Amino acid sequence: AKIRVGLLFGGCSGEHEVSMSSARAIAKALSSDQNANHYELLPVYIQKDGIWQSGELAQHVLESGKALPLTGTNEAYLPTSAADAPSSSASSEILPSAATASKLSRVGENIGWSEVDVWFPILHGPNGEDGTIQGLLKLMQVPFVGSGVLGSALGMDKIAMKMAFTQAGLPQVKYMAVNRSQIWSNPCVFPKVCDQIEANLGYPCFVKPANLGSSVGIAKVRSRPELEAALDNAASYDRRIIVEAGVVAREVECAVLGNDQPKASVVGEITYNSDFYDYETKYTEGQADLLIPASLPDSVATQIQEMALQAFAAVDAAGLARVDFFYIEETGEVLINEINTMPGFTATSMYPQLWAATGIPFPQLVNQLIELAMERHQSP
Ligand code: ADP
Ligand code: MG
Ligand code: MG
Repeated sequence: AKIRVGLLFGGCSGEHEVSMSSARAIAKALSSDQNANHYELLPVYIQKDGIWQSGELAQHVLESGKALPLTGTNEAYLPTSAADAPSSSASSEILPSAATASKLSRVGENIGWSEVDVWFPILHGPNGEDGTIQGLLKLMQVPFVGSGVLGSALGMDKIAMKMAFTQAGLPQVKYMAVNRSQIWSNPCVFPKVCDQIEANLGYPCFVKPANLGSSVGIAKVRSRPELEAALDNAASYDRRIIVEAGVVAREVECAVLGNDQPKASVVGEITYNSDFYDYETKYTEGQADLLIPASLPDSVATQIQEMALQAFAAVDAAGLARVDFFYIEETGEVLINEINTMPGFTATSMYPQLWAATGIPFPQLVNQLIELAMERHQSP
């Protein structure tokens, strides 16, 4: 019998649209000549308001590539307190409310969980790449592609991630963790926090919400007024905020595939003309270029591959991850930037392209990820 793959896509995150394109590419790979005899696709779509859809409706969304209009009223979707109030429309997609969460519990009645042999949660960002979905799937005791609860959560929170990397001896930029309460609650504390950032990190520095992706909420700041505004803005996205010393570096990335004996791909590079690799640069056609393989001295490429495998182990990732680095050409230094445990997976995304260049074409990559999910489930 064919293996039934539950393709979970969409999601309550700012990366909903990216997830839709990733899902389309994976669905196509599952129906390729090589895979069609082995797998049956069961799409499950999570709307931006957290409502789950399966069957024909999910199939339709997958094929059309268009997000569904929200079914519920938007009241069910308002933040629960003023402190959670989003300051922009982007963040309203990121913060689900308690009412939305309670709707999730209705899911089991109509999705047909029991028909799925293995889940492929191709969800990016919060509520998908952060361990929440992974916890649900683990409870259901069905294999799923990618990292478990711990790896996903550590990979999502940039502060926890950096602590794990430090522990593993991986070099990274200087940084400071800041809490929302230090920014919003006490007017005496805020100037001191800014003083510390200026003294420890200097300018330019990067202010980031700790639990996001796609550069959402990230600002590069060069002065005190910019720093203050960026901290205030980041606090509207997350309670946890990280500020990093800015580096001038090339951005290089390495794909990892496997469970306990993972492999690293060739190294790729991202080039662009904007100030940094922000949301617009990431998702506007023609603004960024992928160079695969990156033109690097062999010893540097090898070092990056080794560091990628160390990072994968440091956060307890599984199945797949893309590890991103800063390469400072003048000094030859390689610093780790971050790990992404469910990287973009469209036909043109870095992760599948790195594997294609390493000798694993897209359909075969999807097949291997499903096999890795089954293997991991059998030896927990
Ligand atoms: P995300 O998880 O949203 O991709 P990143 O931490 O990778 O967040 O930051 C997004 C981009 O911002 C990076 O790809 C890089 O262009 C720039 N950036 C982030 N941190 C730094 C830093 N410390 N120094 C220089 N550039 C940075
Ligand atoms: Mg990221
Ligand atoms: Mg990044």
